[in-house]
Amino acid sequence: MSSSISANVQHIRETIQRAAQQCGRDPASVCVIAATKTVSYEQLEEAYASQLRHFGENRWQEAQEKMERFGHREGVSWHFIGRMQRRKLKALVGRFCLLHSVESLEQAQELDRLADQSHLRQDVLLQVNIVDEGSKVGFSEAGLKQVIDDLDQLAHLNIRGLMALPPWTQDPEASRPHFARLREVRDELARQPLQRMHLRDLSMGMSHDYHIAVQEGATFVRIGTAIFGARV
Ligand SMILES: *Cc1c(COP(=O)(O)O)cnc(C)c1O
Repeated sequence: MSSSISANVQHIRETIQRAAQQCGRDPASVCVIAATKTVSYEQLEEAYASQLRHFGENRWQEAQEKMERFGHREGVSWHFIGRMQRRKLKALVGRFCLLHSVESLEQAQELDRLADQSHLRQDVLLQVNIVDEGSKVGFSEAGLKQVIDDLDQLAHLNIRGLMALPPWTQDPEASRPHFARLREVRDELARQPLQRMHLRDLSMGMSHDYHIAVQEGATFVRIGTAIFGARV
């Protein structure tokens, strides 16, 4: 059991190294986030022992329990990768190193207000709905371009980049155009004269397609099943 998680992590690191080298990227520029929804404490321990330090949770309740029991040890960072409900925003601000899934201007403004109240600056990513027939969560490309100047006003958010969650398909290559498109959107926005925002990060790629995401520029990959096995 313990050997399987560390073997999985080893395999993932090698795969990322190869994918990064294939396109002239530094493998160290890719951060692996272990997606830990439904994962047990024993599995978390094994992931930590396998040198994973970034953990991503989808639900505040579950995250809170894990962070209390596990979160305070050396070097651990918690990311929020799930959908953020309005009434949970207050709990999330200041507790995660990065919120990956800001889905609207209104939500960003609310997070900004809460961060101001707590006297902190919250790192976030903007979730972009790059596939029309995919989940409707997130900014549309056109919608994001319309509100980018408003987002740029938010002094208590550090908007670091974009996140996407394309629909799962059997063939991982089917994700490639979506990942490439997210990178293009990031690059287009980064060329605009923005005051605060430095869009560098791309959070994209999961268990079945992270190698493709790395080739297309991912700086965060969010991996659950390929580390911990299928969720029950
Ligand atoms: C669960 C989850 C992942 C990881 O999915 P796997 O296919 O198990 O790697 C990545 N991103 C988000 C937002 C998730 O909810």
